[in-house]
Amino acid sequence: MICVSIGRGRHRHVIAEHRHLAENGIRLVELRLDYIQGKVQVKRLLQDRPCPVVATCRRAADGGRWEGSEEERLLILRTAIVEGADYVDLEDDVAARVPRYGATKRIVSHHDFEKTPANLSSLHKRLAGLDADVVKIAAMANHPTDSLRMLDMVRTSGIPTVGVCMGDIGMPTRILAGAAGSPFTFATFHDDRVLAPGQIGWRQMRDVYRYESITPRTRVYGVVADPVAHSLSPVVHNAALAAEGIDAVYLPFRVPAEQIGDFITESDRWPLAGLSVTIPHKEAVLPFATEQDELVKAIGAANTLAFGPAGVSAFNTDAAAAVDSLAAAIVEQDVEAEGLGLKTTLVLGAGGAARAVAFALRRRGVDVTVAARTLDRAKKIAADVGCKAVDWAARYRLPYDCLVNATPVGMHPHVDETPFDKEHLRPYMVVFDTVYNPENTLLVKEARTIGCRIVTGVDMFVRQAAIQFRLWHDREPPHGVMREALKRATASAKVPG
Ligand code: NAP
Repeated sequence: MICVSIGRGRHRHVIAEHRHLAENGIRLVELRLDYIQGKVQVKRLLQDRPCPVVATCRRAADGGRWEGSEEERLLILRTAIVEGADYVDLEDDVAARVPRYGATKRIVSHHDFEKTPANLSSLHKRLAGLDADVVKIAAMANHPTDSLRMLDMVRTSGIPTVGVCMGDIGMPTRILAGAAGSPFTFATFHDDRVLAPGQIGWRQMRDVYRYESITPRTRVYGVVADPVAHSLSPVVHNAALAAEGIDAVYLPFRVPAEQIGDFITESDRWPLAGLSVTIPHKEAVLPFATEQDELVKAIGAANTLAFGPAGVSAFNTDAAAAVDSLAAAIVEQDVEAEGLGLKTTLVLGAGGAARAVAFALRRRGVDVTVAARTLDRAKKIAADVGCKAVDWAARYRLPYDCLVNATPVGMHPHVDETPFDKEHLRPYMVVFDTVYNPENTLLVKEARTIGCRIVTGVDMFVRQAAIQFRLWHDREPPHGVMREALKRATASAKVPG
């Protein structure tokens, strides 16, 4: 069950949100009484409530906003019990001072905003001993193993237990909580009004991650990156899984660079079935792969892992996606051409995307030049894939048939920037911008006005995700669903990149 936390300053806003949630099928809400400005009218909030509530009044030390005295706070919690709140949240240090009364269930909670405590089972035992109906432990994850320990604790607990790890690193525990046996997980009313680090909105929890349908048998996939919160891969893959009725969920895993080895070697504890791999892990995952496809070997970077009984297989879907996008656009746009129809291509940037594109184009016989502000990186690609390297300032020196932007220039929120001035664009050029948020970057818009043929990052992104889908699920991906999900997400101004 999803428990939605309501934190509003005015009683009427709390009541309106509560009603809205109940009308939308939510069966439990947490009323954060510490957010109410002025005198808290507990009775007003509880009478005629449209669905059951958890009454919580959190101190600042535990991540709340309560500024009054401790005696007043405890009085509010006791009043909530007298007024028949369905649950009351009592921190472990005050639980003994608020006696059980009536039918109100006691959630005995513990918060740690620094770390996940080393001995979760002894902490759990102590909380359970405080006359708890439900134990709740919310602790900051600093390492993916913290999340695994938390989920193990929930799985093995004798009484109902809500165990969540806070922060981006711990976010997957919020989604996998129910499958581990947690009676509910917390979500917020709005995605952008979080009440605790790592929380997400209830619509995302219900509609993107399909929380209620995740069971211990549900296969777990995800994207591993640092940072990861901006990734649109969860939106695209979960939409495809839902459309195909596949019992799997795709999660964002934030894993710092130095922890990637532990994360991969502990993959069977989630257990993970497959991962998209992005910055900064594309090269770092290679030593853990028992098998690498031909592209991974040639490019020296993987963006996809599949976990199977035989080990970890590594793939690179960026290169194929880039060439497929170019080929499709060129054919669609009715160009008379042999092969790709491109003789010379300028690739801007010398990171993983540039490397994949340069490699794939070279294999199709295209004469590739890489221009980068860090010339040494461009030279390294040139040596590895057999192309030319020039420094950033030299990118306008020669005419090219095709321009590929493989830098983040133009990406949200820097939408007024372009890596290539309009005056150097020519109508005969194919312009391929790998940036997908927004789809219509300044470069794409300017190239369109000149009359260039266009390939967008949305096209490439959907293609690489579709290749991943095929590898993991061994069936045709729903391209249209994936494209629509990505377009919807990038159209929403709230998605940062
Ligand atoms: P990366 O490894 O971090 O490489 C980024 C490259 O861009 C580096 O060469 C960097 O130069 C250069 N760069 C960054 N800011 C620049 C600026 N202001 N001016 C000039 N050069 C700049 O990243 P990546 O994995 O290759 O990804 C690059 C971009 O490709 C992403 O931002 C994304 O938009 C796009 N991408 C799209 C897809 C897709 O499916 N559509 C897939 C992968 C990537 P330095 O080395 O000097 O920092």
